[in-house]
Amino acid sequence: QEQLILQERPNGLPDKDTFQFKKVEVNEPEEGEILLKTLYVSVDPYMRGRMSDAPSYAAPFEVGAPLVGGNVSQVMKSNSDQFTSGDLVTGNLDFQEYNVVKADKVRKVRTNDLSPSNALSVLGMPALTAYFGMMHIGEPKKGETVVISGAAGAVGQVAGQLAKKVGSRVVGIVGSKEKAKYITETLGYDAAVEYKKGNVSEQLKETCPDGIDVYYENVGGEISDAVWPLLNVFARVPVCGAISTYNLEEGEKDIGLRVQQFLIKSRVKMQGLLIGDFAEHYDEAYQALEEAVSNGELKFEETIHKGFHAIPDAFLGLFSGENIGKQLVKVADK
Ligand code: NDP
Repeated sequence: QEQLILQERPNGLPDKDTFQFKKVEVNEPEEGEILLKTLYVSVDPYMRGRMSDAPSYAAPFEVGAPLVGGNVSQVMKSNSDQFTSGDLVTGNLDFQEYNVVKADKVRKVRTNDLSPSNALSVLGMPALTAYFGMMHIGEPKKGETVVISGAAGAVGQVAGQLAKKVGSRVVGIVGSKEKAKYITETLGYDAAVEYKKGNVSEQLKETCPDGIDVYYENVGGEISDAVWPLLNVFARVPVCGAISTYNLEEGEKDIGLRVQQFLIKSRVKMQGLLIGDFAEHYDEAYQALEEAVSNGELKFEETIHKGFHAIPDAFLGLFSGENIGKQLVKVADK
């Protein structure tokens, strides 16, 4: 079988020298362990942070060791009474075609009759992140204006629909016409701002005539700089990510804080979030998401590349905006 290892730490945008495929043996599961066949792996923007050795909330990947990330697998052999052969499970696992792990490293997927890939998208980590950031920090209200950057991505596609559900006006910031169409026509957002068309500030003023009450932050940088002056008094800003800064080269990293004057003037609440902070509420969020997906209320896209060797390109595509919805890689059939 093959595994995908971190060959060297990238400076700036990762390239082909960052990754290496390596052949390794598949081990036999011991007592309490299970043998898993990878069906899907998730590529996520936060993985870029783990490729560097700068201290952060998640430990750096080790050079020469496999990358680790969201995974849906099928149990092929079980030496644990928690699982039987054929079960579908999800967890954070090494990027390999097969894994042997202790049974408590994974849990059964909760996707019922839906595609098991959903456990990594609309019924998984990105959707939970959208749920907690929007509902627990953004707290959108009926009639308020909610702006979301990265609006057609894995987190953004769910965050906006949650705000629509409580009756807010939702404006999404996206990088292409196709994504603008997706969020307005399929997801029902009220307007789209296409940042690559230029003048984000003008587009935001036009689409948010009453100012902005919640800004769900996914990208950082210049796009967000256009948002700050439009924040209303007591606006809330869940700070989920800043993807536009993840591939800055050494020396470019310290872009400085340019937001304070706007926060003070308007007593805006801006709060960072890590999905793990909300662990005790996971059941509540899964239940709400499962219900909304099964009654057709929550729409979503998955962009799926095929084959284990597609992982590096799928990951890099996150930074050029190739994905609509959640970017995944299908490694094998059940
Ligand atoms: P997405 O599915 O949104 O994929 C990334 C998207 O970001 C791309 O498709 C692209 O869309 C956009 N993008 C890429 N580069 C830039 C750039 N330079 N400027 C503006 N937009 C850019 O990813 P996720 O939904 O998985 O993640 C969204 C954000 O949430 C990320 O910042 C991520 O790190 C963060 N996150 C945080 C978590 C937490 O616990 N705090 C958990 C999960 C995610 P476009 O074509 O529109 O440019």
